[in-house]
Amino acid sequence: MLGLMQDRPLLITSIMEYAALYHSDCKVVTKAVEGGIHRTTYGEITQRSAKLANALAKLGLTSGNCVSSMAWNTYRHLELYLAVPCMGSILNTVNPRLFPEQISYILAHSESKIIFVDLTFVPQLEKLGDKIAKVETIVIMTDRANMPDTSLDNVLCYEELIDAEDDHYDWPDLDENMAAILCYTSGTTGDPKGVLYSHRSTLLQTYSSCTKDSLGVSKADVIFPIVPMFHVNAWGTPFAAAMTGSKLVLPGGDMTGENFYNMIKQEGCTISLGVPTIWLALLQYVSTLEDDDFTSLPIENFVVGGSAAAPSLIENLETTFDCSVVHAWGMTETSPLGSVNRLLAKHADLSDAEKMEIKVKQGRPPFGIEMKIVDDEGNQLPRDGIAFGRLMVRGSWVAKAYFKQPDLHILDDEGYFDTGDVSTLDPDGYMTIVDRSKDVIKSGGEWISSIDLENVALGQAQVAEAAVIGIAHPKWQERPLLIILPKPGESPTKDDILGYLDGKIAKWWTPDDVVFIDEMPHTATGKTQKRDLREIFKNYTFPE
Ligand code: ADP
Repeated sequence: MLGLMQDRPLLITSIMEYAALYHSDCKVVTKAVEGGIHRTTYGEITQRSAKLANALAKLGLTSGNCVSSMAWNTYRHLELYLAVPCMGSILNTVNPRLFPEQISYILAHSESKIIFVDLTFVPQLEKLGDKIAKVETIVIMTDRANMPDTSLDNVLCYEELIDAEDDHYDWPDLDENMAAILCYTSGTTGDPKGVLYSHRSTLLQTYSSCTKDSLGVSKADVIFPIVPMFHVNAWGTPFAAAMTGSKLVLPGGDMTGENFYNMIKQEGCTISLGVPTIWLALLQYVSTLEDDDFTSLPIENFVVGGSAAAPSLIENLETTFDCSVVHAWGMTETSPLGSVNRLLAKHADLSDAEKMEIKVKQGRPPFGIEMKIVDDEGNQLPRDGIAFGRLMVRGSWVAKAYFKQPDLHILDDEGYFDTGDVSTLDPDGYMTIVDRSKDVIKSGGEWISSIDLENVALGQAQVAEAAVIGIAHPKWQERPLLIILPKPGESPTKDDILGYLDGKIAKWWTPDDVVFIDEMPHTATGKTQKRDLREIFKNYTFPE
């Protein structure tokens, strides 16, 4: 017998309509790409989204087709986030930091005929030339006064495009399983792969992320996603903010510690989110300020994800700002929230050092995500916090296939997706990433976690960034090489670094060498680019 409850579809449209009705005066503040601070409200944004939808319909956009964006976190990008999926079309958020060939591949693969582009990225599109010949319309996301001279054809101005349109749009009744947003992985192996979120998966992820043990977003919050809207939907925060009516603060294209600090201070941000390099930039900037009392800011949480949060980073943020760091794990294929680290009630009386041992873990899966770890034969391994294996996840906001790649089977027999991460699961449900499977160092039949070594090295006072890669070794197969980017003005020696590691790691984990570099290569999503490091050190051999 079926239940007798209403079956309302789970649509992004319902988030937009709810925001229009209940949060219309809530603020959205952007560091504008053109300069200055732009202030608007969800009420205005939802009206402008309707105008945008009317304009897109006139440009010929129909249901099921893709529109691409190459844009920072701004109110205009938010309008695209709402208008495009709610029309029944698909927004493909392109990461502008990818290589030109990857960008032209993504634009072609998604069959986008319309691209929305921020002023910053116009030169990049110009350079793509006839590689994007199939694109029919390019909308530059600015007003008439700021329109650039450009060699691009068929260019429109965003504000002019929507200006003349009606602020009412008949949003269609959609199937909740319809595609909404397309996000490509950064393609560390082969071409980027498209993950196609549905309205339903987005809505369920949003509900989940707002719960207290997850990101805990509420109307009382001021939420500051520094993680870009071109990287897994800024971890879902634009939708979480619109659903709850929290004030939304957007950094635009100003990726400096100074801008992060100013926005946090001036707008009173309570929850800010980003990858570790963002927080290093913030800490570096505030270390140059003398008189400010950072502990009186209303910051509650810094959410750190995308790469491992080192204990030194967690401690530095918590003591500088008197706040709590929330470590989270996820990936494009998990929409992205797969686990969030909150302490349990039983941890309240632990010492700070004991709490830190828990905080560095990647966290517990929220309800809706199932996890298991398996060995190479697919056998489940115990949840004892010791055994480690391939991390497999299943849930309503986890990918089941890649866009237009039907032959690529990515789930096991039980429907779990292989994350490519190696991890442990402990009896309390905390998951710890040991490494990405391709980064782990295989030394004499045992594994060394590059993440663990990096986390310890980052605690040395002169170290700004640390990376460990495996170097081929005649006896041990691979041994760790520690690569250090020193803090500005510091010049640590190999002995300084190895002396610091001594006693903090197992003896056999000790890197066989320490080298120093002037610049750490980063991926398009701000993580250490180990592929480039392997290339730089491909002819490296350990000293005798
Ligand atoms: P990209 O490769 O484009 O950055 P993702 O953002 O999807 O793509 O990256 C997901 C991967 O990032 C995960 O599989 C994991 O290896 C790593 N990752 C994400 N969060 C964490 C974390 N908190 N600690 C360690 N690794 C993380």
